[in-house]
Amino acid sequence: MLRYEILPVTPFQQNCSLVWCDQTQEAALVDPGGEIPRLLAAVKARGLTLKALWLTHAHIDHAGATGQLAREHGLPIVGPHPGDQYWIDGLPEQSRMFGFPQAEAFVPTRWLADGDTVQLGKETVQVRHCPGHTPGHVVFYSPTAQRAFVGDVLFAGSIGRTDFPGGNYDQLIASITQRLWPLGEDTVFIPGHGPESTFGQERRSNPFVADAALSRGR
Ligand SMILES: [Zn+2]
Ligand SMILES: [Zn+2]
Repeated sequence: MLRYEILPVTPFQQNCSLVWCDQTQEAALVDPGGEIPRLLAAVKARGLTLKALWLTHAHIDHAGATGQLAREHGLPIVGPHPGDQYWIDGLPEQSRMFGFPQAEAFVPTRWLADGDTVQLGKETVQVRHCPGHTPGHVVFYSPTAQRAFVGDVLFAGSIGRTDFPGGNYDQLIASITQRLWPLGEDTVFIPGHGPESTFGQERRSNPFVADAALSRGR
């Protein structure tokens, strides 16, 4: 089974997730945005072996610590989709703009595309390309755990911003309704910020993407 622990990092309280295979104790960090010592302490406290860094997208609060972690610990960087190349190149600039510790640009070891799978120990995690918040945003989905790590695509009661360069509202709505809803009503998602929810709950009550709101033509 895929297990996970949420570790909110940076002043933006970004939900970095420590995920691991409970048969092999092999672990990955989803969106290591910052606070490296705290992330490594969580890995150690659970007796896990950190194997990879997975990225949903390359905004500073999600990807800020990736370059340094990869360099210092010899870890592969998996994701996001190549559409986020310009955000990765801009990480040093993003860190200055938001007053974050200096972030390093990097080259992902493996870019991801829709339909890819990522292996962690005995667990196979699926990849969905969900553009709209950023062009290269991906989501990680574990069918066995019924969990999706969705970054800034969808939140409990809200959706990701689309006013950044490269953002696209219609694309974001399509990503949510065509790539996330098919994962099932009972699937729990871990958003990039704030509490968990289920896709079913959002289909019922999220003012931006509830079935009723969409049929009214929002
Ligand atoms: Zn973002
Ligand atoms: Zn974010």
